[in-house]
Amino acid sequence: MLNSLRVVCSARAAVVRTSRLSSALLGHSLSSSLLSRGHTWSCSMAPLKDRGLSYHKSPSHSLRNFCTGQVHLNCWRCQQPLDKTPAFFCLSCEAVQPPEQGVSYFEIMACDHTFTLDSHKLQRRYLQLQRALHPDNFGQKSVTEQEFSESQSALVNKAYTTLLKPLSRGLYMLELQGMRIEEGTDSEADTEFLLELMEINEAVDEAQTPEEANKIGQDTKGKLADLTERIDAALREAELQTAKALLAQMKYHANIEEKVKEKLRDFM
Ligand SMILES: [Zn+2]
Repeated sequence: MLNSLRVVCSARAAVVRTSRLSSALLGHSLSSSLLSRGHTWSCSMAPLKDRGLSYHKSPSHSLRNFCTGQVHLNCWRCQQPLDKTPAFFCLSCEAVQPPEQGVSYFEIMACDHTFTLDSHKLQRRYLQLQRALHPDNFGQKSVTEQEFSESQSALVNKAYTTLLKPLSRGLYMLELQGMRIEEGTDSEADTEFLLELMEINEAVDEAQTPEEANKIGQDTKGKLADLTERIDAALREAELQTAKALLAQMKYHANIEEKVKEKLRDFM
């Protein structure tokens, strides 16, 4: 009873949010599907259409079964209820399913919804899904299944690459919370921080030996680890502005890390 109430309430809330947020979401770039059920995050957003993906809609695959209190989709081909969300395949007829809307990248990749996610688990899940969904496996199947496998495979790629790097992962988490940031914006960094960064950049340029470059690389690693902890804490506390500012700092340090790697390659 409680569960079914929650489904109804969040569905209603989503409608309200859709009308209010739809214009803000039009320019949406990072993700193609967002949480809509409010079960993990207090501030959930309305689902967006998977604009980057195309597949033929059959009327059946959006059938929802509210009887058990949880939202269940049914298989587009055999109409049997799917066992979980997101379901990539039907357990009854084994047909590949179309991408489900309102499912977060964390759910797709079966990873905990945290900034410090388990990257080995992410990697394993990615390989497993790509093996199962690869369009080559569907050469002998129907056109519908070929299209679903292509769109699922593209979605899994997007989810994986977004969650893989801390920066894009953090930006995506802010976006799930309703905050949108352009990856190119520098407005968050203050002058003192930028001066410090300039000095580190110069030090990388002027490093004469691999040891010198390595030292800067190690310092940067330490800063990134520290930032990771602070961003994780800020996101857990829903201090979004803080998380945003720290992510901006992370971007600069990540650039330095790349620059150090380049420098080390030059020494070889
Ligand atoms: Zn089926």
